[in-house]
Amino acid sequence: MARYTGPVCRLCRREDLKLFLKGDRCYTDKCSYERRAYPPGQHGQGRKRRSDYGEQLREKQKVRRTYGILEKQFRGYYEKANRMKGVTGENLLKLLERRLDNVVYRLGFASTRQEARQLVLHRHFTLNGHKANIPSMLLKPGDVVEVIEKSRKVVKVVEALGAVDRRGVPSWLEVDKEAFKGVFRDMPVREELTMPVREQLIVELYSK
Ligand code: SF4
Repeated sequence: MARYTGPVCRLCRREDLKLFLKGDRCYTDKCSYERRAYPPGQHGQGRKRRSDYGEQLREKQKVRRTYGILEKQFRGYYEKANRMKGVTGENLLKLLERRLDNVVYRLGFASTRQEARQLVLHRHFTLNGHKANIPSMLLKPGDVVEVIEKSRKVVKVVEALGAVDRRGVPSWLEVDKEAFKGVFRDMPVREELTMPVREQLIVELYSK
């Protein structure tokens, strides 16, 4: 399965936003964005004005890179969101939040979404008691994610759980650290998704 493997801090600097792609490092003064809050490359500190298209493109890239999804699959999410009832932009964000790798990350079982994706692929979790190794699986309210018994000593999981209080767990999820278990309690509502994103611009970009 294809994924971006280049330097991730570059992505934060390009999007002018901390995307939290490096786990603990993102919370320290080693964060590249904190040190150099301007776009990467030779002309990074040059022209700032963007066209409408540029604004829409950056907004889409910001979300796509946050969730670590490649273009084709991201467009698929948009099309699915467009077919659903309700506001397309909000539907899109909710679909992304429902992904198993995102939920594993949000529950604090991994320090980044990329790490969560890898842990899922390596079969460290169950979903409602069944082995789950597909990062794009969509969860629904009531679903239970659990670290399998023999993976509860995996260093990445233990370290990530140790930092969960600092990171916080969103209100639509519930985690029991001692039991290595989490519940997808409810669908998030837009106000609970705090990433600064103007999803309407993504809709405008794709509906051209
Ligand atoms: Fe982004 Fe900073 Fe984390 Fe690098 S360390 S991924 S720049 S938030």
